[in-house]
Amino acid sequence: MLRCIAKRCLEACMGKLMSDPFASARLIVIKVGSALLVDPAGGALRRGWLRALCADLAALAAKGHQLIVVSSGAIALGRRKLGLKSGALRLEESQAAASVGQVQLAEAYADGFEAHGIVASQVLLTLGDTEQRNRYLNARATLKTLLDLKAIPVINENDTVATAEIRYGDNDRLAARVASMMGADLLVLLSDVDGLYTADPTRHADATHIPDVPAITTQIESMAGESVSGFGRGGMASKIAAARIATAAGCDVLIARGKDDRAIDALRNNGRHTRFHATTTPAQARKRWIAGVLKPEGTLIIDAGAAKALLDGKSLLPAGVRQIDGRFERGDAVVVKDQQGREIARGLTAYNVEDAERIAGKRTAEIEAILGYRGRDEMIHRDDLALTVTAS
Ligand code: GLU
Repeated sequence: MLRCIAKRCLEACMGKLMSDPFASARLIVIKVGSALLVDPAGGALRRGWLRALCADLAALAAKGHQLIVVSSGAIALGRRKLGLKSGALRLEESQAAASVGQVQLAEAYADGFEAHGIVASQVLLTLGDTEQRNRYLNARATLKTLLDLKAIPVINENDTVATAEIRYGDNDRLAARVASMMGADLLVLLSDVDGLYTADPTRHADATHIPDVPAITTQIESMAGESVSGFGRGGMASKIAAARIATAAGCDVLIARGKDDRAIDALRNNGRHTRFHATTTPAQARKRWIAGVLKPEGTLIIDAGAAKALLDGKSLLPAGVRQIDGRFERGDAVVVKDQQGREIARGLTAYNVEDAERIAGKRTAEIEAILGYRGRDEMIHRDDLALTVTAS
């Protein structure tokens, strides 16, 4: 009898665990679109909805999840304040609207999170910041620091300085790039539909919902019709493109309906969604990227003590570096070799070649006195290192 009750309890717990789509995710990126945040009729901020979202996210944070929000809405909010008429805006009008709306957007999130004792931060990125490694290193370190300090970064594209046409849907891609840059486990794209259907459900009554997508095939891509909502020109196609980027970086992606209040809470309680499954882990994806995709610009020759430290999973400190070859900038990929010329690792260097030469062989505590600024403690941080030999 007792065994039977225990078994049922366990099953109930497991059921709960299985139904909470966030359960195993450490770092979660949530993408919020303009169509959810801004009332399509008057262009006003949907304050009640945002308060509810912040409450849901605070509950997730209280459970130990780290969170990053990628939010659109700056242009939609700003155009209303500036009295810009409906219809397509010229690029410079969009950029002006973004610079006005972004103030309101950031304030609204700051207030929403403050009600739960959480500090929000505003981070404006361009896609280049998440794609070019020298800028990538800084963006990643800043976001990581904010997360360690228990703040919730709220990211938008830096529309005001963007040089390309701003398109709705860009933030789906930005969110996927952020997720991959940060090694997130889960990206939640809050949308106007509750996931992917075999056809556009607004036009085809027989369209069926797809709960799980193990791999993004051409058939899956062909199911993404055009979005019908006025703000969301991104539609399903840009969500699938984002899912492709994120899943290849080891991050699962959920597409779920976000329009109603407490959308995240609903999702935690069995709400309908589509899950795109990651094809690797974030750590493997990152190591593969560092070890294989980036072209190394230089070589660091290190001593035996440093080589052993790397094989033990530690960072490369300046003290262990004996010789430097090549020309590289901070954030470039370099090869790390031992004094016998054997390659041990590849990684992203925290110093350019001039500074690296000056601090090579020196203790970390001496860096500031030598360079005149307090740089990173490590020449290559272990998060930015991929071993290319295995410990024997
Ligand atoms: N960054 C734009 C904004 O905040 C929106 C881009 C998008 O929705 O993808 O208004």
